[in-house]
Amino acid sequence: MSQDKGLLIVYTGSGKGKTTCALGTAFRAVGQGLRVLMVQFIKGSWHYGELDAAKMLGDDKMEILPMGRGFVKVGGAETDPEDVRMCEEAWTFALAQIQSRKYDLVVLDEINYVISYHMLDPGKVVAALAARPERVHVICTGRNAHPALVEAADLVTEMREVKHPYTKGILAQRGIDY
Ligand code: ATP
Ligand code: MG
Repeated sequence: MSQDKGLLIVYTGSGKGKTTCALGTAFRAVGQGLRVLMVQFIKGSWHYGELDAAKMLGDDKMEILPMGRGFVKVGGAETDPEDVRMCEEAWTFALAQIQSRKYDLVVLDEINYVISYHMLDPGKVVAALAARPERVHVICTGRNAHPALVEAADLVTEMREVKHPYTKGILAQRGIDY
């Protein structure tokens, strides 16, 4: 059995920690000399600390590329064709990077969200990830991971909310949430 087996990893669930778990894995990977790319399918409204931290590590070690738009309206007729187009573009780009073998770990941040809102076809994503170069690790994050992706994955962790400060009215904290 080969030592270097690229894993398909899914971090899902409604509790906090999916993106931070992917970033923690990325940090570990960089320490092992692995090259990491994170493609963000949904661009958040904050300036995330990880964007600057990745720059401190250097582009040759870790790159984070925000591809989506800040705010996405979804659901039936309300889905903006421009958002669908941008998701398709982000996916095409991310897949090309996975296939390029330039990276050892590629994080598809919030791709589960994009799939669950029908902005990307789950069958297409799962088939392409299954056919990726053998040594490339891929992490998919976001709530409501599609059953087909869960089925295809080697490792799936569901974050379960036990407590979140938001329910006490405490807003997002710098360095913890962004
Ligand atoms: P993080 O980026 O902090 O790891 P996440 O990736 O698990 O969070 P997302 O669904 O991407 O969660 O949501 C992103 C934002 O929503 C973050 O600011 C996060 O703190 C916040 N958030 C995550 N989970 C919860 C929750 N259960 N209740 C309220 N806010 C949450
Ligand atoms: Mg997230």
